[in-house]
Amino acid sequence: MIDTHSHIYLEQFDEDRNEVMKRAVDAGITDIYMPAIDLDSIAQMANLEYEGIAFHKMAGLHPCDVGEELEKDFYGSLMHWVEQPDILGVGETGLDYYWSTDHIDNQKTSLRLHCKAARESNKPVIIHNRESTSDMLDIIEEEQDGSLKGIWHCYNGTVDEGKRAIDLGLHLGIGGVVTFKNGGVDKTVTELPLDKMVLETDAPYLSPAPNRGKRNEPSFMKYTAEKLAELFGLSLDELDKKTSDTACILFDKPII
Ligand SMILES: [Zn+2]
Repeated sequence: MIDTHSHIYLEQFDEDRNEVMKRAVDAGITDIYMPAIDLDSIAQMANLEYEGIAFHKMAGLHPCDVGEELEKDFYGSLMHWVEQPDILGVGETGLDYYWSTDHIDNQKTSLRLHCKAARESNKPVIIHNRESTSDMLDIIEEEQDGSLKGIWHCYNGTVDEGKRAIDLGLHLGIGGVVTFKNGGVDKTVTELPLDKMVLETDAPYLSPAPNRGKRNEPSFMKYTAEKLAELFGLSLDELDKKTSDTACILFDKPII
């Protein structure tokens, strides 16, 4: 299985990262895609290795870390990283009106800059979205010139919003929220095409049931995968194959 969104490089895993990785291998995780949060993230990702798991780096500036120095930060460091061949995606970027509405204009500018970098590098943009769905989709619509691809990470919208995102060229990242009884995602995903979905954890955040509230880790993705398989009436292997193939195509990797 491919975890398309995991912050395994963060300090929350410093104490027991090897045990976390062992459990990931035991759970069938083969690939972990790591979205950056800020300009330090890439260095934190640099030395991660564990036998049986391929780690993939991405570069970006989280909307909650967008500051006044945005354009200088972005063009000074981030574009340099995005152009590197071992950086496979651009993000995470996006909009977050839940944590702060102080820097909305900066967040929007940042999202547009990430979209531009994604188009120019032909790599997917990874989009965080919280209480900002219509603004996010409006920007994607404006930025889409036919070449932009990406993931609405931790998709939790309505059916119509999911359809609009897919029409705009996005894939949907399905995380632990699909296992939440009151999350709503379990009701909407079955109205949307499975071939536009990829699996993710967002570790250490958003742990699926039955570990809701605990630190999330890649091995817990099996609960999300099992739930999605059940909703679509597929075996776990079938669900894994479909979502993994989709992730490989999106990130321009050979199908495993
Ligand atoms: Zn994230």
